[in-house]
Amino acid sequence: MNALIIVDLQNDFLPGGALPVPHGDEIIALANKLQRKFELVLATKDWHPPDHGSFAANHPGKKPGDRIMLDGIEQILWPVHCVQNTYGAEFAPAFDTSRIAHVFHKGVERSIDSYSTFFDNAHRRETGLADYLKKRSVKNIYLMGLALDYCVKYSVLDARHLGLNTRVILDGCRGIELEHGDIDRALDEMIQAGATILKSADL
Ligand SMILES: [Zn+2]
Repeated sequence: MNALIIVDLQNDFLPGGALPVPHGDEIIALANKLQRKFELVLATKDWHPPDHGSFAANHPGKKPGDRIMLDGIEQILWPVHCVQNTYGAEFAPAFDTSRIAHVFHKGVERSIDSYSTFFDNAHRRETGLADYLKKRSVKNIYLMGLALDYCVKYSVLDARHLGLNTRVILDGCRGIELEHGDIDRALDEMIQAGATILKSADL
């Protein structure tokens, strides 16, 4: 079975949100359209408590973009975003969620961030997605969403570690490009890990 996994299509990651991914809103129509091509559609949400360690505001004297050590691993600090049960954490209003079988939440623990939809950044805790796919014998996954150079990339790398046939729908993603070249480097890393990059027209 093929599964479509739509990553973090949430208000805070769209233009006007707290941590906007440039042109992130442009993928909503495609997310709605592509769902019809898949038997199984899953989605993820970045879902932080207000005191989350990835928020610059929770570290006096720090600002977004600074790097700190958080519980033993390096953490880039971000603006406050995707706080549980707030509008910013909700899916985009135009995003059709009627066919989504399950939503996986990540970044729920204060002391560790989670870019990947499978594991937190230290691989200490699972989101449940790996087990969910295994129980349903899903071997082929297609990812789209935000942001290409963070949550999509780390999800793809973990998926490859788990042995999943992993395809990235390039026109279904947008990147943050915090540093120039991040998107190209992310694509290289995903390809090196054995993922396939394709366009929605190929589906
Ligand atoms: Zn986050």
